[in-house]
Amino acid sequence: MSDGLRIRLDRTLCDGFGICAKHAPDYFSLDDWGYASLVGDGTVPERDRDAVMRALLDCPAHAIIYMGEHRPSENQQDRPDVTETLEPAPKTEDNEAISGFVR
Ligand code: SF4
Repeated sequence: MSDGLRIRLDRTLCDGFGICAKHAPDYFSLDDWGYASLVGDGTVPERDRDAVMRALLDCPAHAIIYMGEHRPSENQQDRPDVTETLEPAPKTEDNEAISGFVR
């Protein structure tokens, strides 16, 4: 069961059409040139799903990205058996191959 969804906005893709802010003004704000910023952390409760999905689907630049469902009951605090896997820190000798850097 989901409590909503998670999105993110790739501002490098935004072309400033402003459709997102029209559909979901609580989640997208526009600057003076019409380029969008995400309001909040991208968590969208179920009650606002339709408006935000409409913004996502109508964005002509595909700048709004669906990140999955928001399931607060599955976060680490509720599931101590789940450990977060962090990416290795860059610029160490142990992970040069992972980051693609070769001397
Ligand atoms: S609808 Fe898409 S392109 Fe238009 S302002 Fe929003 S994010 Fe940018």
